[in-house]
Amino acid sequence: MMTTPSCHLCGHDALHEVAGYGRLLRITSDVRIWPAGGRLAVCRACGAVQKPATAAWRSECQAIYSTYVVYRQNGGNEQAVFASSGGGEARSLLLLRKLVDGFGLPSDGHHLDFGCGDGSLLRNAAALLPAWKRAGAELNDSRRPEIEAIPGVEDFYAGSPSAIPRRFDLVTTVHVLEHFERPMAILSTLVGMLVPDGKLVIEVPDLRTSPFDLLIADHATHFTPAVLRNVLTESGLYVDCLTDSWIPRELSVVARHAALPEGTAVLPTDPPADQVWRASLERVEHHIDWLTRLRDSARAAAVAGPVGIFGTSIAATWLAAHVSDSIAFFVDEDMQRVGGTYLGRPILHPRQVPDGARVFVAHTPAFADKIACRLAELDRFTVIRPPDGVFV
Ligand SMILES: [Zn+2]
Repeated sequence: MMTTPSCHLCGHDALHEVAGYGRLLRITSDVRIWPAGGRLAVCRACGAVQKPATAAWRSECQAIYSTYVVYRQNGGNEQAVFASSGGGEARSLLLLRKLVDGFGLPSDGHHLDFGCGDGSLLRNAAALLPAWKRAGAELNDSRRPEIEAIPGVEDFYAGSPSAIPRRFDLVTTVHVLEHFERPMAILSTLVGMLVPDGKLVIEVPDLRTSPFDLLIADHATHFTPAVLRNVLTESGLYVDCLTDSWIPRELSVVARHAALPEGTAVLPTDPPADQVWRASLERVEHHIDWLTRLRDSARAAAVAGPVGIFGTSIAATWLAAHVSDSIAFFVDEDMQRVGGTYLGRPILHPRQVPDGARVFVAHTPAFADKIACRLAELDRFTVIRPPDGVFV
């Protein structure tokens, strides 16, 4: 009999296993198809959606990280975020701009990017915050030389975060927290690295609008705003801003030490646990049902002849794995990718899609609408929309 560990957020022995997840093909966060057979659970105490932290799951994560490549599908370049106009900007640059424009950062200070990857955020920080002193932290030393070459970088830390010796005015951690089996432990460590007025900036996928996030085998926790807020508060942080409006399908947080300034309102009481976990389970079951219907509709489209797939990241790669023999090309608006190949097929700009072709859009309906509107202006090929679903 399979045993289920306790919730890795609240510690309660209350995980409810989600039926049907084990049948879905998975994908890694560095965009490699990963076999079906995973487990997914919702905590009946805190409502958090998570991968049960079993020995099998830990060994899968170890296998994934031992051969990990940051931004694999983009030749090492950070993914761009596209506005409805189609103009793209690097995600970390967008995040830093919001921070600089809205949160009055001083002209200089010490900044740590925890989980700095290939240094994309630190490079953008060097342009936007030139007088700041920078540091990066990663699991290992493999990227030390390129991080240390970024203007303003004074330190690079590899290994355990508890070994980082100094405090910072700004700590950023982008797409890191969802990988940790014990997010509160890592947050407590990061809080301890802040000077009294320091800011912690966090970016994670938003489970409400990112059904594909469930498929990522090495994502330990799938955050909603409610779950994330609880985790932040429990970790000794006061949340200045928690928003889904900065970057599509992601949650952005600006937080600091929890010592409340005078006159700060106390947060409203959370809804009862029973209500929270049932809503979480309903959402996850809806996501799994929609992903199954999306896969089936792509297979049905493939039966009718060759198709193009819009996108070259997680969603498109996962879908392509189900219809690989029928894919004629990929479509992308990111000029860094156009002209290359992906999974052995050409990557075309929408303007290059052949007349009369069919292009499958592997996104949630609201997001697919925005893409479909842009593509409709070209009016030369058929856009195959995803199945209906509600993602809020
Ligand atoms: Zn829990």
